[in-house]
Amino acid sequence: MPTGERTTGERTTGERTTGERTTGERTTGERTTGERTVRERLVTAGLRVTAPRVAVLESIPNGTHRPVDAIAQAVRLRIGSVSTQAIYDVLRALTAAGLLRRIEPAGMPALYENRVADNHHHLICRACGAIEDVDCVAGAAPCLDSFPQPAGFAVDEAEVTFWGICPACTPKPSTD
Ligand SMILES: [Zn+2]
Ligand SMILES: [Zn+2]
Ligand SMILES: [Zn+2]
Repeated sequence: MPTGERTTGERTTGERTTGERTTGERTTGERTTGERTVRERLVTAGLRVTAPRVAVLESIPNGTHRPVDAIAQAVRLRIGSVSTQAIYDVLRALTAAGLLRRIEPAGMPALYENRVADNHHHLICRACGAIEDVDCVAGAAPCLDSFPQPAGFAVDEAEVTFWGICPACTPKPSTD
């Protein structure tokens, strides 16, 4: 995995209501990412519920940070052929609507996640690329609580990336 994320396999439970096609066995309830279903998230954001939008949101489970190619692959497993351009368009719309956050750590492809609006930070392993969310050490509204706002400049985000070596990549001291 290029991003070193733990993946537990794509779930392919069919989205029952938005599309003609379903790609998996039917389930009784819609899968939720967070406390709300993806449909509710779309509606709340004022977006039309479409199969590609639902599939994209479902392809970015909680806690993951996914590159476009992985999202495209997962979306196609769910709803069949969708152009890469269409997936970019959906990602752009969902990000603009505040349903997804896009991060671009140095040297990595752009990554999308569904944890939005809390301006959390990221802990990234230089060796394997594993990414973890980290809450801000400086308050509930990360890094902005005590930030002296420059006059006339509406700051709403602090992008903080902690780089290091994760436990799995840390050489074990030899025990002899
Ligand atoms: Zn690592
Ligand atoms: Zn994150
Ligand atoms: Zn912070």
